[in-house]
Amino acid sequence: MRHLVLLGGGHAHLHVLRALARQAVPGVRVTLVSPFSHLVYSGMLPGLVAGHYAHSDCAIPLDLLAADAGADWDEAAALGMDAQHRRIYLSSGDELGYDVLSIDVGSVMDRNTIAGASEHGLFVRPIERFASKLDSLLLLANKQALSLVVVGGGAAGTEIALALQHRLGARSRVSLVTGGAPPLSSYPTPVQQLARQLLRRGNISVFEDACVEVAADRVTFGSGMRLACDAPVLAINGCAPSWLLGSGLLLDDNGYVAVSATLQSSSHPEVFAAGDVASRIDAPHPKSGVYAVRAGPPLARNLRRFMMGSPLQAYLPQQRSLNLLSCGGRRAIVSWGSFAAAGAWAWYLKNHIDRRFVARFSKTSKVARVELDAQQ
Ligand SMILES: Cc1cc2nc3c(=O)[nH]c(=O)nc-3n(C[C@H](O)[C@H](O)[C@H](O)COP(=O)(O)OP(=O)(O)OC[C@H]3O[C@@H](n4cnc5c(N)ncnc54)[C@H](O)[C@@H]3O)c2cc1C
Repeated sequence: MRHLVLLGGGHAHLHVLRALARQAVPGVRVTLVSPFSHLVYSGMLPGLVAGHYAHSDCAIPLDLLAADAGADWDEAAALGMDAQHRRIYLSSGDELGYDVLSIDVGSVMDRNTIAGASEHGLFVRPIERFASKLDSLLLLANKQALSLVVVGGGAAGTEIALALQHRLGARSRVSLVTGGAPPLSSYPTPVQQLARQLLRRGNISVFEDACVEVAADRVTFGSGMRLACDAPVLAINGCAPSWLLGSGLLLDDNGYVAVSATLQSSSHPEVFAAGDVASRIDAPHPKSGVYAVRAGPPLARNLRRFMMGSPLQAYLPQQRSLNLLSCGGRRAIVSWGSFAAAGAWAWYLKNHIDRRFVARFSKTSKVARVELDAQQ
């Protein structure tokens, strides 16, 4: 029997698991490896921080999806791999062999780029860990007024800063440190303008400076300025997992897995990759959940075809996507190309899309639930 390993319970693998639940591949054993039993849906994280959602609203049960797909569930993280010998080294100390491997582990935040951040910073990734630490931050905020600094001027940092200010109210103070550029600098100007208005209205101080050091009670900027801070929240850019470096897989200049139009590794055809961890040299696209989700169905199709010996199909990602950014309260910014608008209606649209996404993958079969409960 051949062994298909799905490494990481990311967005694209949700589709693969659902496709396997609908129709198994004969003669193939499947294992899903991921460090948390749930995927916390990142699109809903700002809403969780703002208090619009409970943890259970945003969590997709990976263990149940695996059971439903007839796959083994291995709660562990990959710490390394050897593509030549088809082996993965896991945090549990186990080694896992594979015939076919699909990687959807997302990106990571480098804990060492800012001095002191690994000791004192609250990193937004892994999202599952951040979500579990959020309650203690909120408890502290109930007891005393807090001064919080969010580091990272991209979508994640801006949304989290707005969400924290909404949740904690005027008693606490939230600042946003962007790294130098204006907030949301990779977005069209109208989106940046709307975000600025909202940050100003929320009394969030924006520092277009780099954060160079984080200590227990303050952050230091590149300009030398220091800001008192009870909890630095790190929402910095994602980067490629460092364990890929020694894997033997062909990587792009930033260390992400180079894949072709069929989502196969450019060096090892039995390895597939999708989502943030994959890099399409021929058709680059932004790293976002939207693109990771879209890669799911073609990945599922090509994994099945590969294992059945059928020709694979090329996949061309769309170049534009609808962007929805939450703004603290029940409002969102919507953008498409250079068009941008904000309002409560955009939040209702985002809420509807996000809840429907989670619901789609949370309705696993009763059989899977019973079998998994019996094992535990
Ligand atoms: C606060 C925030 C808000 C965001 N909002 C949006 C949004 O509204 N829209 C949007 O399009 N994008 C959004 N993004 C970006 C989005 O989260 C990512 O682009 C998306 O999650 C990428 O999906 P993925 O499938 O590649 O990986 P992920 O969703 O990151 O999933 C990776 C999976 O692999 C597991 N894993 C990680 N490391 C290992 C390992 N070593 N071994 C095994 N398993 C591993 C993880 O636990 C997880 O289950 C947001 C990001 C953040 C931080």
